[in-house]
Amino acid sequence: MNDEESPAGDLEARRGRVLGASYRLFYDEPIQVVRGEDVYLWDADGRRYLDAYNNVASVGHSHGEVVSALAEQAAVLNTHTRYLGAEVVEYAEDLIVTFPGSLDRVVLTCTGSEANDVAYRLAKVVTGGNGVLVTSNAYHGVTDAVAQFSPSLGPAVAPGPHVRAVRAPDTYRESTDGIGQRFAADVATAIDDLRAHGLRPAAMFIDTVLSSDGVQTGKAGYLRPVQEVLQSAGVLLVADEVQAGFGRTGHMWGFERHGLEPDLVTLGKPMGNGHPIGGLVGRSELMDEFGRTARYFNTYGGNTVSAAVGRAVLRVIRRQGLVDNSAAVGTYLRSRLRDLQSRQPVIGQVRGEGLFVGLEIVDADGRADGDRAGHLVNGLRHRGVLVNTTGPHANVLKVRPPLTFSAAHADVLADALEEALLEDFKRS
Ligand code: PMP
Repeated sequence: MNDEESPAGDLEARRGRVLGASYRLFYDEPIQVVRGEDVYLWDADGRRYLDAYNNVASVGHSHGEVVSALAEQAAVLNTHTRYLGAEVVEYAEDLIVTFPGSLDRVVLTCTGSEANDVAYRLAKVVTGGNGVLVTSNAYHGVTDAVAQFSPSLGPAVAPGPHVRAVRAPDTYRESTDGIGQRFAADVATAIDDLRAHGLRPAAMFIDTVLSSDGVQTGKAGYLRPVQEVLQSAGVLLVADEVQAGFGRTGHMWGFERHGLEPDLVTLGKPMGNGHPIGGLVGRSELMDEFGRTARYFNTYGGNTVSAAVGRAVLRVIRRQGLVDNSAAVGTYLRSRLRDLQSRQPVIGQVRGEGLFVGLEIVDADGRADGDRAGHLVNGLRHRGVLVNTTGPHANVLKVRPPLTFSAAHADVLADALEEALLEDFKRS
């Protein structure tokens, strides 16, 4: 049977016909997933995979309490925020207590892109400018405004003239001590450049783990000098927590380990464990200034079912101790991977924080080796372990499992990676 005739091949062909070229699939042999439970996914042939990549199903695939909250609320009522409803208020209250006191207002959306889009609108209103700063391989979402400041989308999406992409920290190649100062100096230069072109800078968006820049978690606090530059220039700092938020880094929020107090925080992915919820959290004086001039209504943002799901996710994170688990298992996983690194120099660096881990895959001269990283991703996939790559050269293995990952799962991953590395050496 050729691929076109096999059930998976047929589905792939049909998918291509109706969804078209902008949709991409993972892996040299795509996986048709049919079921998920906790850290596992199953394909249509019943094969089980260890999911070490999914930060959406962050409290575990198909978590019973989240599924029940969704089903029970859907069976009673689902409506929008223009009626007085207790659920959305209770959810906003539960969410807001996880932030520093100054961040005391919530706006609810359905996706991370929308959250960043609203953050940008708000920053424009309160600063009177439209200039935006981001990191050089940033990704912040799909709306027209946000895509223009998401350079990782590549040359097809022209960055607006109001956008400055600042060279992201490279925690493998730059000196650890100077990195925050260098980055802050480049941010200051970009602000000056916007002004020199007659543009007023409104905001800098930073993914607090710099995921698409290659998981540049770096030394705690290295983003602080950037905030000082932004503050003195009157530019808002938007912490994009779509990747880092909800316990991923072993802290509830990625900005916490940098000792930052962002002006705005954007949320998404893990917020609903697969249900589409996003949000924007910010200081009341900013949020209220925006609210006075702009009406905000989002038909689905903050609907009753989403609020029930969001509350359940927060409850599960708390009750199952997932922030602490992320810290502890992440540390163990990195120690296993560093042990492997000592035998396998193609792993140039093992980095990360909590259960967000990046492995810099390099050639003999320390240069980014995206080809080898791609082979390793597929080698792991064929061994039943799912990860992927990131970074401007797609050479960083991105490991980002559900937060229920255990030390035993970490062992499975590390052993499978060692096997995939050995097999790849035979090939090359
Ligand atoms: N910001 C970051 C840092 C992201 O990684 C993503 C999604 N990959 C987004 C924003 C956009 O979120 P969504 O896909 O929910 O619109």
